[in-house]
Amino acid sequence: MELSKRITQITGGSDGWEVFNRARRMLNEGHAVTELTIGEHDVRTDPSILHAMDLSARNGHTGYATVPGTDLLRDTVAARVQSRTGIPTTRNNVLITPGGQSALFAAHMAVCDPGDTGLFLDPYYATYPGTIRGAGAIARAVRTAAEDAFQPRADLIDAAAEGAVSLLINTPNNPTGVVYSRQSLEAIADVCQRRDLWLISDEVYDTQIWEGEHLSARALPGMADRTLVIGSMSKSHAMTGSRCGWIVGPEYVIRHLIDLATHTTYGVPGFIQDAASFALTAGHELENKIAAPFRRRRSLAINVLAAQNTVGLVPAQGSMYLMLDVRATGLTGEEFANALLDTHAIAVMPGESFGKAAAGHIRVAMTVDDEKFVSALRTLCAFSAQLAKRHAAE
Ligand code: PMP
Repeated sequence: MELSKRITQITGGSDGWEVFNRARRMLNEGHAVTELTIGEHDVRTDPSILHAMDLSARNGHTGYATVPGTDLLRDTVAARVQSRTGIPTTRNNVLITPGGQSALFAAHMAVCDPGDTGLFLDPYYATYPGTIRGAGAIARAVRTAAEDAFQPRADLIDAAAEGAVSLLINTPNNPTGVVYSRQSLEAIADVCQRRDLWLISDEVYDTQIWEGEHLSARALPGMADRTLVIGSMSKSHAMTGSRCGWIVGPEYVIRHLIDLATHTTYGVPGFIQDAASFALTAGHELENKIAAPFRRRRSLAINVLAAQNTVGLVPAQGSMYLMLDVRATGLTGEEFANALLDTHAIAVMPGESFGKAAAGHIRVAMTVDDEKFVSALRTLCAFSAQLAKRHAAE
């Protein structure tokens, strides 16, 4: 039986998770593997959030919740977004979704017709092209470059914009750890307005800023009417398994997105939403507590990397990842990641899993305890130095 092109073309074969899957198999077979692959915190959801979840469920919030999200959570998200951006935002600008991933899909469903082109920036979070294709659109990559410290270039976006209807960006960025500068975002806003593009702005790492400040593109002049912001509880509150995120955008877009949600997800469990409302109003302390290990490990990593000169560090300004340049070893990111796994049982993601622009790089998730993390990084650097020496002698 034939399946739809829409579903068979989502990944186009390889999904970039091969090294990750191999590491998982090794772990299941009983090998000790240091896992620096996916963006999963090494702490679980805070007990105070679980308490709020439990209380809500016991109070009966286990039935169908209203599809757009509870008034409480929509109001809470609106107030948070307004206080961070200065842009007037009400619950009518907010749809609660089962995680940021389904928000990314819904946003593309809202703005792309089948056959339309959606732009995204390379390197990219692994699901991006598949999400755009899943919505029936053509996914077109625009490169950012190591030479530009992976800041997006408006001239390249402009050159790719012919026939496109949307642009997907992500700051703080997964996989690079780069925070887009005001200058980059203003230039993007300018292209979007000139080329009449929707901007889908994935800001799920907005509480993980180590250098500079997070700027939401929705806050830039003229952008609130054409920007859909993607948010999530996953990274800010270590609630990856709770599947709770949102889209913030113009009211009429949200109205249509509610139709989509009614016919797809039918909302998010009420007790999860109550837990999210609690977490978002619990103050910055809770967010800071969850971000702190990554901030600390990033500093530790900078120290380890300062003591060698084989591995390059892409400016680590935000998010829970470091992007390392391993081109001096003469290996591709994929070859390097496989060799590191085989030789030292350390699992990292090859840059190539995130697109062509990250070739020769690897992404390291800062998601194991400090001691293990530093030791893995030291091993990685020593291994790179050996490989680089051998490569130079070839
Ligand atoms: N966007 C980015 C950039 C991500 O890294 C992730 C998850 N790793 C998501 C969206 C989706 O997160 P979730 O669905 O858990 O909210």
